[in-house]
Amino acid sequence: NTKLSEKGLKISPSVTLEITAKAKSMKTQGIDVVSFGAGEPDFNTPENIAEEGIKAIKEGKTRYTPASGILELKEAVCEKLKKDNNLTYSPKNIIISSGAKHSIYNALMAITNPGDEIIISVPYWVSYPELIKLAGGKPVFIKTKEENDFKYTLEDLNNALSNKTKAIILNSPNNPTGTFYNKNELEKIADWAVKNNIFVISDEIYEKLVYDGENHVSIASLNDEIKNLTILINGMSKAYAMTGWRIGYAAASEDITKIMSNIQSHTTSNPCSISQYASVEGLSGDQSSVEKMKKHFEERRNFMVDTVNSIEGLSCRKPKGAFYVMVNITKIKGKTIRGMKIESSLDFAKLLLDEGKVAVIPGIGFGDDDYIRLSYATSMENIEKGLSRIKTIVEDK
Ligand code: PLP
Repeated sequence: NTKLSEKGLKISPSVTLEITAKAKSMKTQGIDVVSFGAGEPDFNTPENIAEEGIKAIKEGKTRYTPASGILELKEAVCEKLKKDNNLTYSPKNIIISSGAKHSIYNALMAITNPGDEIIISVPYWVSYPELIKLAGGKPVFIKTKEENDFKYTLEDLNNALSNKTKAIILNSPNNPTGTFYNKNELEKIADWAVKNNIFVISDEIYEKLVYDGENHVSIASLNDEIKNLTILINGMSKAYAMTGWRIGYAAASEDITKIMSNIQSHTTSNPCSISQYASVEGLSGDQSSVEKMKKHFEERRNFMVDTVNSIEGLSCRKPKGAFYVMVNITKIKGKTIRGMKIESSLDFAKLLLDEGKVAVIPGIGFGDDDYIRLSYATSMENIEKGLSRIKTIVEDK
C-alpha cells in the first residue's frame, strides 16, 4: 500500500520561500533582481554573538545538550522575560527549540486534539494554517480589515468561537501586516480568552521591531490567569539577525512545557548546541545592535510607505512593527498592464518579477488576494530601485 499520508498531502508549500527561491535563482543567472520577499533581516549577526558561537566550537561545546535546551540559555530567557516583559518564569517553564517556527509546532502538538479549532487572523503568517493542520487541528479564520489596521475585535472572536475552540494564535507585531496590538486591546483579548478558557499562542518574534516610540506588551504579563493560558513564543531570528542559527523558545505553564519537551526529545532532540551558547550572549550581552537595526528599519519603513502611496493605483497603511508593508492592489486588479490581465495577487507578482525584475510576495499566500507584501529588510538603495521599477510598471510607462 503506497498511499501517501493524507495529512502530509494537505500541506501546501510555503509561497514565501517559493518566490524568494525563484528570485534567487534569477539572480544567480546574472539577472539584476530586487527582492522585496525577504523574511529576514539583511544585517549580519552582531559580532559579539557570532564570537560566542566560534568560542563554543573551539571549546568543544559541540555535543548533545539536554533535549529542551541548556540551563544557561533557559536562565537567560527567564531574565529577558523579566526585564523586557515583566514576566516571572523559571527554567522549567522554558523550552528552547530550533527556531520559533519549531516552538509553535511543538506548542500546537502539545495542546491539539483531533478536530480542535485554532483561531487565526487573515492575513496570516503562511505557516500557521499548515502547522495547525499538521497537529491535527482545524484553522478557523477571522478576516480582518485594512481600515481596522488588520486587527480583530471581540465581536470577531465571538463569531469564531465554538465548543471546539482550543486556542487563538496572536501575532503582534504581525507578519504580514505589521499590525501591533496595544495594551488596551490585549486586555480585551485576554479577558475573552480567560472567560472562555482558551489558550493563547502569543507569537512575539517581532517584539523588538516596534516603531513610533511604542512599546511591545506581552499578553501573558497582564495577569496570572492569562499567563497560565498563554504559550509565549519568541526567538533570536528577527531581533538579533540570527535566522540561520535556528533558535526559538517558548514559555508556558510547566504541564505544557513538559509535553513540548517530550515531543521535541523524540523528534529533533536539542537545538544546535553552538547556536544555544551564542544565544546566551544575544539575550544577555550588549543590546545596542538591536537598537541600531531597528533605527534602519524605521527609516526604511517611512520611505517605503511614502513612496508606495505616491504610486498611482497602490496604497498602504503605515504599519507599527515588523518589517513588512501590505500594499493594497484592488485598483490594479482587473487592469491589463503590458499585455497581461491582472486578476490576482499572483498575476501581479508575476508581472513585477518578469517585467520589472522585482520580487514581491502575493497576498494569496497570506489568505488575502487584494494585497502584495513588501519587505523592507533590504537596503535603502534596493528599496529606491525596486519601488521605482514598480512605479514604472504600474503607471504603465
Ligand atoms: N513567526 C512569525 C510571525 C514569523 O514571521 C517567523 C519567520 O518568518 C517565525 C515565527 C519563525 O521564525 P524562526 O523559526 O526563524 O525563529
